[in-house]
Amino acid sequence: MSFLLLDGRATARALAPALRARVAALPRKPGLTVVIVGEDPASQVYVKTKGRRATANGFRSDTHRLPADTPQATLEALIDQLNADDGVDGILVQMPLPRHIDSAAVLSRILPEKDVDGFHVINSGLLAQGCPALVPCTPLGVMRMLARYELDLTGLEAVVLGRSNIVGRPMAMLLEQANATVTVCHSRTRNAADHLRRADLIVAAVGRPHFVTADMVKEGAIVVDVGINRLDDGSLVGDVDFEGVKDKCRAITPVPGGVGPMTIAMLMENTVTATERRQG
Ligand code: NAP
Repeated sequence: MSFLLLDGRATARALAPALRARVAALPRKPGLTVVIVGEDPASQVYVKTKGRRATANGFRSDTHRLPADTPQATLEALIDQLNADDGVDGILVQMPLPRHIDSAAVLSRILPEKDVDGFHVINSGLLAQGCPALVPCTPLGVMRMLARYELDLTGLEAVVLGRSNIVGRPMAMLLEQANATVTVCHSRTRNAADHLRRADLIVAAVGRPHFVTADMVKEGAIVVDVGINRLDDGSLVGDVDFEGVKDKCRAITPVPGGVGPMTIAMLMENTVTATERRQG
């Protein structure tokens, strides 16, 4: 079967002009502030990319870099200061935080209206009830990509692998709101492969290289690979065995170049949405 490559880079590029038009219509530039604690190399790269993209979209962007041994109170004081700063429309605290920091406490310290990552419990609750919310960027990006390729989800059997607050759980909510019938698998699921084999749509977010193999995928399924795994040889692979699976499915995302660029694009959209809402 021929397959449709769901291209995240092209989709993100296609969304950019509409975003810039929204920015141009604002009385002042959106302000995105990123906070990073410690020296994690992958996080440093993500933060740099987010800052560059924000500037390219006409935002005011700045980054606070704090040492790895920053106390919880210092980080929370910075969040309070950013919450009170009218020029800051979006606050993003790069995850993961060092182990001594209570991440949940930090995330819930961010004002929900500035929570452009969509991780605050208020935004999770709004999403769960189908109300307007700042939605986590990765699952939102998946939905935007599926929409761009006009893949109707109504009535599909969807299986989401993973139940994190960042990806799996909000992903399941969004798919259910798009009228798919959703099963969520996690580390305690008995025989996830049996669930996957029934799926018309698979979203893999487990963080295990090549976890989903061809024998687990139904002919004609849509496969979205959220996973980003670095192998010992330095290469990046997803949670899906792309080469093995691609000939079986109707549509599939590559890694890299699939969900990743959409995540950043949705961070930009969330920042503009937050700015528009804050400016009434
Ligand atoms: P996470 O917090 O570690 O969650 C992983 C989930 O997978 C958990 O719910 C876990 O179940 C489940 N799981 C683990 N082993 C499993 C198994 N054998 N069978 C079924 N489920 C299993 O990870 P995350 O933050 O959601 O991220 C997942 C992946 O997506 C990672 O590779 C991450 O790097 C990537 N990611 C990519 C982007 C992007 O922009 N492309 C953004 C965010 C994350 P339990 O809940 O039972 O532990």
